Amino acid sequence: MAHEHHHEHDHAHGELSPIEARVRALESILVQKGYVEPAALDALVEMYETRVGPHNGARVVARAWIDPAYRARLLADATAAIAELDIGGRGGEHMVVVENTPEAHNLVVCTLCSCYPWPVLGLPPVWYKAPPYRARAVIDPRGVLAEFGLILPGTTRITVWDSTAELRYMVLPMRPAGTDGLDEAALASLVTRDAMIGTGLARARP
Ligand code: FE
Repeated sequence: MAHEHHHEHDHAHGELSPIEARVRALESILVQKGYVEPAALDALVEMYETRVGPHNGARVVARAWIDPAYRARLLADATAAIAELDIGGRGGEHMVVVENTPEAHNLVVCTLCSCYPWPVLGLPPVWYKAPPYRARAVIDPRGVLAEFGLILPGTTRITVWDSTAELRYMVLPMRPAGTDGLDEAALASLVTRDAMIGTGLARARP
């Protein structure tokens, strides 16, 4: 669907937030100087708004839950296994998937900035980019998880994985109990973004 520039008419001047005004100014400079095509910019925004998002990661997780051979490939070479489902692209060139078990929980952070596996998870939530999460995830992961409402047994070991521009992590959450009869799509609907970052668990069966 063509994306029209109706935003020019939606807001009267003066109604833009400071961020919107800055984005608008930057966009017009880039377009005027010929650095970007407005259509290309629209396509990029549309892609991250609709096609790229945690539903992609959820497909990967659900497939791994029902197909042990796929799960093995995913843990051995996540980039290739994710590409099998036609998911990939910028920010997903070098993926590593780490598996949660009752004994071991994994948590993903980017301590340096906000590196995030865009093709499988879309754009990062605000808290992922915020300094408190980035600093405290490493120092006190159990405390951070508790703030997300996730209290793990004391016997569960927590490992924190620091993503970088070159290497980005995704968590394979545990399959919830009582989901034996669910098909792949129903399983995928239980997989939340936070479960794939490690700040949450997959949802229980509805
Ligand atoms: Fe980063």
